[in-house]
Amino acid sequence: MRALTGSAEQLLERLRAEGDQTEADVFISADAGNLWKVKDAGLFQNVTTPTLQEKVPEHLRDPDGAYWGFTKRARIIVYRKDAVRPEEVATMDALGTARFHNQIVMRSSSNVYQLSTLAARIERLGAENAKAWAAAVRGNFAHDPQGSDTDQIKAVAAGEAQASVCNHYYYFRMMRSDDPADRDVVSKVGFVFPDQAGAGTHVNISGGGITAHAQRRDLGIQFLEYLVSDAAQTMLAPLNTEFPIRPEIPAAPDLAAAGPFKEENIPLDALGRHQAEAARIFEEVGWS
Ligand code: FE
Repeated sequence: MRALTGSAEQLLERLRAEGDQTEADVFISADAGNLWKVKDAGLFQNVTTPTLQEKVPEHLRDPDGAYWGFTKRARIIVYRKDAVRPEEVATMDALGTARFHNQIVMRSSSNVYQLSTLAARIERLGAENAKAWAAAVRGNFAHDPQGSDTDQIKAVAAGEAQASVCNHYYYFRMMRSDDPADRDVVSKVGFVFPDQAGAGTHVNISGGGITAHAQRRDLGIQFLEYLVSDAAQTMLAPLNTEFPIRPEIPAAPDLAAAGPFKEENIPLDALGRHQAEAARIFEEVGWS
């Protein structure tokens, strides 16, 4: 087997250009928003096997079988411990309240994690609600969006703002870091899985599917099935900073210690279906 790596965008373009000449049998990416784009371009084929259906929870795979999750990530709220009590950031809605006036930093809306998070809200509560939320949070910005998820954690630690949002593994990577500066940052920052009393925390996948023009379809399916097998999930879990896709497989000890959490349950392809609308809403409210 040969692996070719690149950004999701680069790999999608390459797949598009190669058409039926492609050597790629499997396409793997983080974020269902990216995987949906491959599906939308007609570059995945739908695949369903009893093993994949049994191992991958329904809300963590494409309803048509175009792509399947093998690990899972949560969108968490991070807050500065000396300024915020965790119960003040128990919900995503809280970030848009007067309590956090000038106290929120956020990553740019061009990032797929932000698009997927807002797309999920559009699916659950409708576009008007999603726009009102985005506008309220935008109104609380301490400064214009800049930097990565990790940069949001650093900005909160540095006192530029009191709270932000990031994918959970960026926080845990800093906790596991050998660099004392990273551990100093996380010592100042707490996190919560938001919306535990409501719809649950937004989750997303790392996943993959079989390319439309795969020449070794059966081998590709075997590989996807391997990724969610006992052997692979159990081997990867203790090393991974993401959660196993299968709830019965224990996560790495530090992730497991963060406790089980209630996750949002919506059809995964909604993250792609509402992506363009999410981008439009972000633009309308001035969240660059
Ligand atoms: Fe990431």
